[in-house]
Amino acid sequence: MIPISRPVTGDQELEAIRRPIASGWLTQGPEVDAFEREFRDYVGAPYASAVSSATAALHLALRAVGVQAGDEVITVSHSFIATANCIRYCGATPVFVDIEPDSYNMDPARLEEAITPRTRAILCVHQMGMPCDLRAILGIAARHSLKVVEDAACAIGSEIEWQGRWERIGKPHADVACFSFHPRKLVTTGDGGMLTTASAELDRRFKAWRQHGMSVPDTVRHGASVVIFESYPELGYNYRLTDVQAAIGREQLKRLPDMLARRRALAARYGAALRSIPGITPPDEPSWARTNWQSYCARLDDALDQKRVMQDLLDQGIATRRGVMCAHREAERVDGVWTCGAGRQCAEGCAPRGCRRLAESERAQDRSILLPLFPQLTEEDHEHVIRSLSLALERRLGAPAVGAAK
Ligand SMILES: *Cc1c(COP(=O)(O)O)cnc(C)c1O
Repeated sequence: MIPISRPVTGDQELEAIRRPIASGWLTQGPEVDAFEREFRDYVGAPYASAVSSATAALHLALRAVGVQAGDEVITVSHSFIATANCIRYCGATPVFVDIEPDSYNMDPARLEEAITPRTRAILCVHQMGMPCDLRAILGIAARHSLKVVEDAACAIGSEIEWQGRWERIGKPHADVACFSFHPRKLVTTGDGGMLTTASAELDRRFKAWRQHGMSVPDTVRHGASVVIFESYPELGYNYRLTDVQAAIGREQLKRLPDMLARRRALAARYGAALRSIPGITPPDEPSWARTNWQSYCARLDDALDQKRVMQDLLDQGIATRRGVMCAHREAERVDGVWTCGAGRQCAEGCAPRGCRRLAESERAQDRSILLPLFPQLTEEDHEHVIRSLSLALERRLGAPAVGAAK
């Protein structure tokens, strides 16, 4: 069976977790400090704070930039559900704008029409690692005095051309960037997340709020030669990353350059092969972006049945996934209705099925497939995927639409 993805872990990680276990300092200690420093240096950010997940990071980021109950936050529906959920954790309403069909990312041309007097922030997503159009998004945000948070959960190692130079996602280019270390991403700590920012004040909030709002970090109290009493002046959470996880993360960062090179080589090979297979369009990388290919998402022609193609591949021992989900199609909604690009609750009754304003988001979910891509994928298995895909498409394009099962 060829899986859709597989984390890269081994002896280095096993060896690394001996350190915190032997030291007796198991959570948010020296390993977390070191992981934050190394991560910060890698993405080029002034500050980094490790937390328990990207979902926790997004929650802290939105609260820290001032998102409150009753506010609206503009984002995409075409993302993992955590993107919309973290807005709701703040008591705010997600307002969805559609995506561009080629990049699967927020369409900046739809942004301005979604802004209302209640809009507080924009939560943009670098979907599947592909940088979104930050230049356009930040320009609009500046004109309307809106904060911008980057959901960079998938985007470690991705780059964007910025003022003539290539810079890593997470510098950050907006107010805050949030990363995930779930095993489905490139760098994993099992679960985990990271916030990066250029603001000392935002960083202070992240470091206090992840630790119950405590005024003095444990590391300072334990190292003090005088007695210190801590206080809890602000509402906080337990969003800590453990030192065992951070030790794993430090080894993962060392593997990242090789992982990126291998993923890019495999993606290039997919691209070359898929361009000559009828019925499928490989993903596009804008000239100003370098993705990490966290997922490889190709678009099927409208004549093809997504589920049947996926089943054909599964029958050949190849796992695939359909395009990224759409949050507005899920059951949990605000006051019974998701809001969409109009910046108000949908009065047209089109959600959760067939939202006019989110047509490209729905099309991407229904018409795209994610193909296996991970560094350990062998040449032989890669060939097998490409060959099986080609055969499946040939068969499905040739077969009559009804009663074609064979
Ligand atoms: C994976 C993912 C998240 C959530 O990450 P966790 O670390 O699992 O909380 C959020 N947003 C996007 C776009 C993701 O892909």
